Amino acid sequence: GYNFSAGPAALPEDVLRQAQAELLEWGSARASVMEISHRGKDFIALAEQAEQDLRDLLAVPANYKVLFLQGGATQHFAQIPMNFARRDQAVDYVLTGDWSEKAAKEAKPLARVRIAASAADSNYARIPARAAWDLDPTAAYVHVTPNETIRGVEFHEVPDTGAVPLFGDVSSTILSRPLDVSKYALLYAGAQKNIGPSGLVVMIVRDDLLERCPRDLPKIFNYAEHAAQGSMLNTPNTWGWYLAGLVFKWVKAQGGVVAMAEHNRAKAQLLYGYIDGSGYYRNPVEKSARSWMNVPFTLPREDLDAKFLEESEAAGLLALKGHRAVGGMRASIYNAMPLEGVQALVDFMKDFAARNG
Ligand code: PLP
Repeated sequence: GYNFSAGPAALPEDVLRQAQAELLEWGSARASVMEISHRGKDFIALAEQAEQDLRDLLAVPANYKVLFLQGGATQHFAQIPMNFARRDQAVDYVLTGDWSEKAAKEAKPLARVRIAASAADSNYARIPARAAWDLDPTAAYVHVTPNETIRGVEFHEVPDTGAVPLFGDVSSTILSRPLDVSKYALLYAGAQKNIGPSGLVVMIVRDDLLERCPRDLPKIFNYAEHAAQGSMLNTPNTWGWYLAGLVFKWVKAQGGVVAMAEHNRAKAQLLYGYIDGSGYYRNPVEKSARSWMNVPFTLPREDLDAKFLEESEAAGLLALKGHRAVGGMRASIYNAMPLEGVQALVDFMKDFAARNG
């Protein structure tokens, strides 16, 4: 079957098979990669290779650190303001959906949160025009969510925030297409969509920013400490790091993020093209802001939802139920989803529409 889960999401089959084959004995370690010290030379080599592969994939400039952290993206909603803003300092959030809302809420006890722009009035069906953002030039940073996983809204251009550092939660878009790291001061991603297991968080942060981390923060919350210790301040998520490394190699073997972008654009065009032309299904997002990764859609009547889900699952098309906040359906078509999976979904949708007009 094909797994359309929004996250944790499908990983490439080849990666899972390799992990399965190596589960009991990894490399020369004579033990599972989960059972060896993170300070031993075998794991250190793995960790360094994974970092290098990610650097290669995203052409991460030399003046950025790549960190492998824990706590999910949600923990970093709070940890980011702890590290980079003073309590009385403005931080600008751009609200484009549920995840940016959550990020702003978590920052509230820690900094002076300003909503620089919001698309809530459109029920999050668009990206607020950059010209209409009300940015504070003294803000510690501007926070955006380049892909909103629940509403299926994506920035297709990086906004210019001038001298104010731009931070992005790229949990559900990282590695789906080229990403100009140099336009951001900080990027972070929960791993469970395009990278690996949940819990692991990848962060890419510009060196000069780390000088802001308050020295009186507990070390475990302090990004400068994590960076100084190569993300091994405490025991890292070694299994997650290993799987992330396999996924980075897989993306490289596919031709890197340029090839991923072609693959993902083709899948998105197929699905949105069908939805728009169907006269049956509907996607509410403005065309210029539609996500390549998450495609929500509704049926003409809500009472058909249960039938659609039951029959799609029976046809091997899994996890199409929309998020509880939105209803309807959502097809998440991350890197690991082949074009044939999207074609199978479209074929099913056509057939369902013909039978339930
Ligand atoms: N940000 C985005 C864009 C997400 O899609 C998610 C969903 O998993 C999160 C943050 C939260 O991530 P986590 O569950 O790893 O805390």
